[in-house]
Amino acid sequence: MSAKVWLVGAGPGDPELLTLKAVRALREADVVLIDDLVNAAVLEHCPTAQIIAVGKRGGCRSTPQAFIHRLMLRYARQGKCVVRLKGGDPCIFGRGGEEAQWMRERGVEVELVNGITAGLAGATQCDIPLTLRGVARGVTLVTAHTQDDSQLNWQALAQGGTTLVIYMGVAKLGEIREQLLAGGMAADMPVAMIENASLPQQRECRSNLLAMEEDAVGFGLKSPAILVIGVVAAVAENQRIAAFGSSYRMCADTV
Ligand code: SAH
Repeated sequence: MSAKVWLVGAGPGDPELLTLKAVRALREADVVLIDDLVNAAVLEHCPTAQIIAVGKRGGCRSTPQAFIHRLMLRYARQGKCVVRLKGGDPCIFGRGGEEAQWMRERGVEVELVNGITAGLAGATQCDIPLTLRGVARGVTLVTAHTQDDSQLNWQALAQGGTTLVIYMGVAKLGEIREQLLAGGMAADMPVAMIENASLPQQRECRSNLLAMEEDAVGFGLKSPAILVIGVVAAVAENQRIAAFGSSYRMCADTV
């Protein structure tokens, strides 16, 4: 019997943002290994599967990666249909690439299923177009969190003219600000910080590069959150103000 593991993206949280293919994989699953950023509501699609929580949140107690690998391998070799369910997309800061390689090296077939990554979902939920003709010709997804303390090329990021979407940045706002300012980004560059994107408890904090750390503290911004840095972060806001004038601001403040 050939062993197979599905590496599946569960999307950012809203169960309606799950793909049909992810639903099919879940329906077929015998065992589901689930990360802690996955909304458990999606498990309605696999009511009879064995569910194993293997959360790996930065700074928290977590299941060692090697153990997760071995667990997946064991179930796959027993001929079970194994689904590894990850928040967002499995290959965007999700170790999907590493897990796929590890499994394939051991003769296990791997099928990857996209999920909607939190950066895309967060921007859309806030009406931010990550690319926009004449404004942003690209988008760059980066993580502020590295295991080896290697540095990003902040100057290139600051001057690249693309919208920056930063994952795992909540604890590093001061450093991000300093690096981007030093790299030549304008101090008033719009920033949107989106917490719990696509979930009912979603919150968003609008700011700019210079003020973002202070504003985030005042707002009580918590992980999981993404940062969108770029001119587009203010586009929808400006369009609404243009369309509705000051009454829009009053509405927005009272919602
Ligand atoms: N594979 C995931 C990312 C995992 S890294 C994806 O594609 O979305 C974990 C980081 O993702 C968090 O620190 C946060 O920056 C971001 N994130 C995940 N879910 C989020 C959510 N619902 N709202 C905001 N940010 C989220």
